Amino acid sequence: MTDTATAARPKIVIIGAGFGGLAAAREFAGKPVDVTLIDKRNYHLFQPLLYQVATADLSPADIAWPIRSIFRDAANIRVVLGKVTGIDEASQSVETSEGPVPYDHLIIANGAGNAYFGHDDWPVHAPGLKTVVDATTVRRNILLAFERAETAADEAERHRQLTFVIIGGGPTGVEMAGAIAELARVALARDFRQIDPRAANVVLVEGGPRILPALSDDLSAYARQALEKLGVEVHTGTMVENIDAEGVTVGGARIPAATVIWGAGVGVHGTAEWLDTKPERGGRIAVGADLTLPDHPEIRVIGDAAAVAWPQGPGENATVPGIAPAAKQEGKYVAKAILATISGKPSKPFKYRHAGNLATIGRHSAVVDLDRFKLTGWPAWWFWGLAHIYFLIGVRAASLVLLQWFWTYLTRRKGARLITGVTTEAHPVRESETKR
Ligand SMILES: Cc1cc2nc3c(=O)[nH]c(=O)nc-3n(C[C@H](O)[C@H](O)[C@H](O)COP(=O)(O)OP(=O)(O)OC[C@H]3O[C@@H](n4cnc5c(N)ncnc54)[C@H](O)[C@@H]3O)c2cc1C
Repeated sequence: MTDTATAARPKIVIIGAGFGGLAAAREFAGKPVDVTLIDKRNYHLFQPLLYQVATADLSPADIAWPIRSIFRDAANIRVVLGKVTGIDEASQSVETSEGPVPYDHLIIANGAGNAYFGHDDWPVHAPGLKTVVDATTVRRNILLAFERAETAADEAERHRQLTFVIIGGGPTGVEMAGAIAELARVALARDFRQIDPRAANVVLVEGGPRILPALSDDLSAYARQALEKLGVEVHTGTMVENIDAEGVTVGGARIPAATVIWGAGVGVHGTAEWLDTKPERGGRIAVGADLTLPDHPEIRVIGDAAAVAWPQGPGENATVPGIAPAAKQEGKYVAKAILATISGKPSKPFKYRHAGNLATIGRHSAVVDLDRFKLTGWPAWWFWGLAHIYFLIGVRAASLVLLQWFWTYLTRRKGARLITGVTTEAHPVRESETKR
């Protein structure tokens, strides 16, 4: 796969066209380097809005863009659809399903997937929310549960079908819980004859002492109250003990539930094996202050796949959080650092600028925790919406399309209430894209 015409220019390979990889590739556009951007998917996915696909607010195509079209005008960036399977550090080559790709500088930005803490039987019963397939599987499970409740033979089964358990009280769990509660209480409220969707039980289970632990105590308490106002049952300090086809066992209690959603664990898959190194917690790869690997100044790891020290962060040994702005900052930084290295200039260590944390709670509320101010309720929701539009514009320039998205969201047009795949299985089936 080597292009002999440009063999003299430095070869940069980027693994992953997520937030980090995309930001890096953009910096290289038009520069005197040849970039190969490898991704196992042909699209960049805006993960923060996956929960809206899972709850039928948006279609997958609303939050995913073909990587090729993003770099249409960047002649020095080649996009390869292929799965990375290994890295040969000695010969400086990335092994992919499409053959080897040589590099002078390598940026690893392959992100994170779901982690089930060794419970290999749980993913099939409790899909996570990391990919489009995850989101459409969850959407299917949720919508099927209402359908099955409508035709359930007895009250116990109806109750089980109308019980939705979300494991994990981080932003994904909180956003999912709020969105399912609103789906049941507003969008579906008048669509059924035998059941009242408003009677759905939405249960959020968090092992730690409070939900949204990355936010301040008062915002976390606010979020809990706001969820409870929407009818969500919130259990904190409660560990999940088992998940099977019939429901979950949490904190010693059995909850019969047809739909269980996993938002509790994040893990980096494959990267440590590729580099033959011992990973940090969650499979992340420890990098130095310049985001390079020890002993390998030509290899950089960024985004969710990297464990980057954050001296200004909360607590001892804090690391940069696994959020999109961090991946973007790191992507930009490593691209600039590589260009500096190529032209023989020094570069400063990476310094993370933390903008804050935000999470929505249904359509009318959110919590925003920024350095300078905090917001709750409706103003926070607007802040969240505008922040996401700003972010989305970074991916796709067509602002009219973005405004349309916002309008769709505001007007509650649940345009994506489709159950795809088999609808006659006894239990929702799951395609397994998250097993990377
Ligand atoms: C449901 C959800 C909600 C979130 N909400 C927010 C939010 O509101 N705000 C926020 O800031 N952050 C949020 N995040 C976190 C944010 O999405 C991540 O921090 C960010 O995507 C990390 O960027 P990345 O570039 O490291 O990885 P990713 O964006 O995950 O990209 C990794 C890329 O690598 C590719 N890849 C992986 N393995 C291979 C392989 N073997 N071969 C080839 N390609 C490969 C993948 O296909 C993918 O395109 C959310 C995440 C999720 C899952």
